[in-house]
Parts: sequence; C-alpha cells; structure tokens
Amino acid sequence: MTFDYDDQNIFAKILRGEIPNNTVFENDHALAFRDINPQAAVHILVIPKGAYVSIDDFAANASAAEQAGFFAAVATVCASGVDEGFRAIANTRTHGVQEVPHFHMHIVGGEQLGRMLPA
Ligand code: AMP
Repeated sequence: MTFDYDDQNIFAKILRGEIPNNTVFENDHALAFRDINPQAAVHILVIPKGAYVSIDDFAANASAAEQAGFFAAVATVCASGVDEGFRAIANTRTHGVQEVPHFHMHIVGGEQLGRMLPA
C-alpha cells in the first residue's frame, strides 16, 4: 500500500493557517478542533500535524513521537466532556467514506449515540 498525500486538502490548509478553525487543543504533533458540521453535542476532530492520509498510513509511517503526541491530544480531548462515553471514528478511503484525505479521528459524544452501524 502506498499513500499519496494531497497537500491541498482542507485540513492541510487549516494546519498552514490558510483557513480558520475552532481549536480546542494543540501540541507539537497534533491539532484538535471542532467539526464544522457536528453530529452530536461533542464532535471534535484530532489530526496529526504530519502529512498522513489515513489511520493506516499514520500507524505504519508516523514516528513514535508523532504517534505519542497524537494520542496525547486524543487523551486530552477525551478528558473533557465525554465522561459518559464517546465514539472514536477514523473513516478511511472509499469503503469507509472518508471525505478529507488527511488522517483525522472523530471524537463524538456528549449524548447517547445510536448504534455504530445499522442493525
Ligand atoms: P470524514 O468523512 O471522516 O473525512 O469527515 C470529514 C469531517 O470534516 C466532516 O465531519 C466535516 O464536517 C469536517 N470538516 C470539513 N471541513 C471542515 C472545516 N473547515 N472545519 C472543521 N471541520 C470540517
């Protein structure tokens, strides 16, 4: 599997400061911001600052420091407002209906969610 990164995707533009975002947390390796079209009371996206297309690209190719920084950001986001539970989602490529080709983890919660997939 090869991963071709398109640096014109919208999250790359957010990371370059070309378009605004509603940041909730940032560290050296990751940025967390509110989804522009929230699907629940809490809907935050956590993205690595590095150029990774998808979760499998990130898992295979990101450094240990990048992975630690990313999951530190996930931990911080999840420590605020989703104590009753949440869903972490990484939509991936065509079958996963990924719209933005920069790895992002959705943290969705703050209310009772429906089933993960239709029964
Ligand atoms: P996905 O289908 O997993 O690629 O989800 C992409 C997500 O990015 C969607 O939930 C969009 O609402 C969200 N999104 C797209 N553009 C922006 C933006 N400029 N700021 C925040 N969230 C965005």
